[in-house]
Amino acid sequence: MSVVPIRLFGDPVLRQRAEPVDQVDHNLHRWIKELVHTMEAADGLGLAAPQIGVLRRLFVINLPALELGDAPRVFINPEILAKEGWDVAEEGCLSLPGLYAPVGRYTRIRVRAQILEEDTLKTITFDAEDLYARVIQHELDHLNGVLFIDHLPLRERARLLAQWKGLSAPSHRTSSD
Ligand code: ZN
Repeated sequence: MSVVPIRLFGDPVLRQRAEPVDQVDHNLHRWIKELVHTMEAADGLGLAAPQIGVLRRLFVINLPALELGDAPRVFINPEILAKEGWDVAEEGCLSLPGLYAPVGRYTRIRVRAQILEEDTLKTITFDAEDLYARVIQHELDHLNGVLFIDHLPLRERARLLAQWKGLSAPSHRTSSD
């Protein structure tokens, strides 16, 4: 297993814009393996490369959890071409463990991304709805240095950040040893 540490809120890497993936090489294969294994070990719905300290435009999603069958699980250089509908639902993030808040997202999106097929990058376009669309929007935000708390009203955001300070305070860490 190639499980690596997940970068937590406060780490500057989470606030930077990731660069496009421009070639298939051993690094890309390693990043994909680390993303998939780390996401599965953390039982997350998705994980983006900046969350493991890699500033490249790729993320993975957890297909069994989303009940998506044979859909691609690795998305490279993704972009949203069209969006419609709006829904608010509770969201969390592996980089802010323990925090949850209602976040508004588009309910239907058209996505263009590259997938890895026989060691080449193949461009696909597809539509995603509901939870699938929500996870893609959340992970794509990570590639632009955006976190789910950025979408919250100021008061709600302040409440979460205060909660985060409590969760990550040294006294809390020692008390849970
Ligand atoms: Zn996240």
